[in-house]
Amino acid sequence: MTWARYFDERAETMPAAWTRRLEEELLADQVSRCYERTPFYRRKLAAGGVRPEQVERLEDLARLPFTTKEELRESQAAEPPFGDFVCADPVDIVRTHVTSGTTGIPLLLAYTERDARSSAQIGARAFWACGARPDDVVLHCLSYSFYTGGVSDHLAMEATGATVVPVGLGQSARLLELWSELRPTAIFSTLTYPLYLAEAAAETGVEPRALGLRKLLVTGEPGGQMAFTRRRMEELWGAEVGDSYGISDVWGTLAGECEERAGLHFCGQGATLVELVEPESGDPVAVEPGAEGELVFTHLDREATPLLRFRSRDVAVVVDVECACGRTGFRFRVVGRSDDMFRVRGVNVFPSAVEELLREHGCDRFAIVLERFPVEPPVAILVEGVNGKEEELAEAVRARLSFTCAIREAALPRTETKAKRLYRLYAGEDAPA
Ligand SMILES: [Zn+2]
Repeated sequence: MTWARYFDERAETMPAAWTRRLEEELLADQVSRCYERTPFYRRKLAAGGVRPEQVERLEDLARLPFTTKEELRESQAAEPPFGDFVCADPVDIVRTHVTSGTTGIPLLLAYTERDARSSAQIGARAFWACGARPDDVVLHCLSYSFYTGGVSDHLAMEATGATVVPVGLGQSARLLELWSELRPTAIFSTLTYPLYLAEAAAETGVEPRALGLRKLLVTGEPGGQMAFTRRRMEELWGAEVGDSYGISDVWGTLAGECEERAGLHFCGQGATLVELVEPESGDPVAVEPGAEGELVFTHLDREATPLLRFRSRDVAVVVDVECACGRTGFRFRVVGRSDDMFRVRGVNVFPSAVEELLREHGCDRFAIVLERFPVEPPVAILVEGVNGKEEELAEAVRARLSFTCAIREAALPRTETKAKRLYRLYAGEDAPA
């Protein structure tokens, strides 16, 4: 079959000037709606000394104060269930997702019917860019419990026309039993899960390559953009990796790689604005090739729980603003969570950089243990299966990442979901034994 090149050609290939005109109109409406209907945003705008009618052009966005997850949580704690930033009548809400994050305090994210439709459309653009097509049978192997990556991404994948199997987590043995009935062609999961599934298959005497998957659609870990890790997954499964990116607080999936496989295209045109800011100062960073900053999102048409200038804590690098595929959404690579970044004597380190280096040396399971703050070298890194290469690995880390570490052999927990890579003992966390 030959399929169309884009899921939504009009939105995905719209010239920048048109997108701008459309988005400026929507932005002005969204800001006044938030101001009129929610005490939360009325308070925030007043504190920032901004009137809603002063936000007309995209440049005016920078006048609005940021919104953080902590503020949203406080608002919901004071006025359960949705806080005082909810913009829709409760009767119009059709779905609620819950995120907990590292602090464990939940945040409820609500969707009206229209919000649910927007989420599915944006996700479908991204999944189509990654390679999902109507003749695919996609195993959806992320948690369905509360989490946006479950039902929301499922519905977005379904919107591409693909057949989606709601597998969830904890089903690997059953999945392998059902394999020949289901005849899957693709999997949608974290980057780590196909590795786990390959091991489970190998234990039953089945070579992953013999299972016939053609596409590994991955999400949620910076590893999706790491050349070495991708190549290894591709060789292991005989399938192609397509990376995607989502953020539960904003939508589900909202960016995906095209066939160029060089960065994630932002796919939220017409529904979400994205800015880059310097993580510490919050100063705007221009979106141009090579620029690095934290992604900040503003909903343009979210009805239930709208966000204005939401600090994602995800740090990204802009790959390019143009692409041979014709999509006009800029391309980026996620470097890591600004919360996970640590500093060793002036050097900023993202656990994802350590991950890529260790994987290149054949080590998939590792954890960084920060004993005290400020962090002092040598930084303890626990590695499973280090095989006497402690010195070699420590030297490689020093040479490429510019900090001193001490590598120690350790047995690390197996997981189907995202592996925990960073333990802060000084913040009361317990290191793996
Ligand atoms: Zn492209």
